[in-house]
Amino acid sequence: MKLGIIGAGQLGQMMALAARPLGIDTAFLDPSAQACGGRVGELYCADYADPTGLQQLAEFADVISFEFENVPPAIVAELARSRPVYPPAEALATARDRWAEKTLFLSLGIETAPVAEVNDQASLVEAVRQIGLPAVLKTRTLGYDGKGQKVLRDAQDAADTFAELGGVPLILEGFIDFEFELSCIGVRDQNGACVFYPLIRNEHRQGILHRSQPMQDPRLQALAEQAVESVMSALNYVGTLAFEFFVHKGQLMANEIAPRVHNSGHWTIEGSRCSQFENHVRAVMNLPLGSTESVGPVAMYNVIGKRPETQALLAVPGLHWHDYGKSERPGRKIAHITVTAANDAQLAERCASVEALLINDL
Ligand code: ATP
Ligand code: MG
Ligand code: MG
Repeated sequence: MKLGIIGAGQLGQMMALAARPLGIDTAFLDPSAQACGGRVGELYCADYADPTGLQQLAEFADVISFEFENVPPAIVAELARSRPVYPPAEALATARDRWAEKTLFLSLGIETAPVAEVNDQASLVEAVRQIGLPAVLKTRTLGYDGKGQKVLRDAQDAADTFAELGGVPLILEGFIDFEFELSCIGVRDQNGACVFYPLIRNEHRQGILHRSQPMQDPRLQALAEQAVESVMSALNYVGTLAFEFFVHKGQLMANEIAPRVHNSGHWTIEGSRCSQFENHVRAVMNLPLGSTESVGPVAMYNVIGKRPETQALLAVPGLHWHDYGKSERPGRKIAHITVTAANDAQLAERCASVEALLINDL
């Protein structure tokens, strides 16, 4: 069995690493010859719109998946004519567009921040009047790690930010003064059966995920699973999906979905019986899903911009180092660290050691 992956970044790399013990070979399509997935699978280096690269991938693969939502949906639809592509093009089209995704949430009764479409100055003025300030202006597509968005505090901000981000479709969202952020990762198989990982509490720094840790809250877990399941079923979803929420006044408020494996689920490699990556591969290859049960206390840190002293880090007991083989650049995710422990006190102690060694450059 062969899996073709569009995009050869670290998410694709970890999918390929999970596929190998299942006896599944992988190949990637990525415009960059340096893409890190090339270290673990064959890499076809071509622009996503280049028919030759797409054809090579389709010839190699029994099934095609992708590691990021910015693949043009037309390309996925074209590939889907000759090979099964999961998640389906419809899910991709919705998840890559913030307006389409918010519209879907609201149609399913899932609460979001107040939101409005912004296409020009006049609609921005109207949106600010409706939603009030502070608010967050975001590009509808192509945003990640907090790029392509800005918090608006006053009318001058609104005018300046529109000048900066304008020219592409935008949305305005009410600013949510949340208690904390969490994500829920679900996996749906080809018969529509779903499994879910424990909720994950996420801490961001300058819009970039800094730390993730699974948490227990049966009430929020049930609410989140309900939202994830209804979105996955509306999209005829197959594979792993991550749903990000704000916790506001003790309730969930939907932020966004990612139609793929997700940074906040990297801890599942060591922390769960079957990781988000392996379960994604199982789902798209039509294999039975694995257990999402946790193995023990765990937390994950992103390594951003600068590599810490790995000698010292690897001396921390229970630490797992995942290097993506990328060069250092401010704001770039170049590795992650998973910390495991026998109990919560030990985990806190080990996390403190890791935090003292991290030298992230945002
Ligand atoms: P990701 O890298 O998770 O894909 P992204 O660039 O798609 O991020 P969002 O998840 O929309 O962007 O926003 C990034 C972060 O900015 C959020 O995790 C949250 O901390 C903050 N944020 C976004 N929207 C709001 C909002 N409406 N109110 C308050 N904070 C917000
Ligand atoms: Mg996003
Ligand atoms: Mg996000």
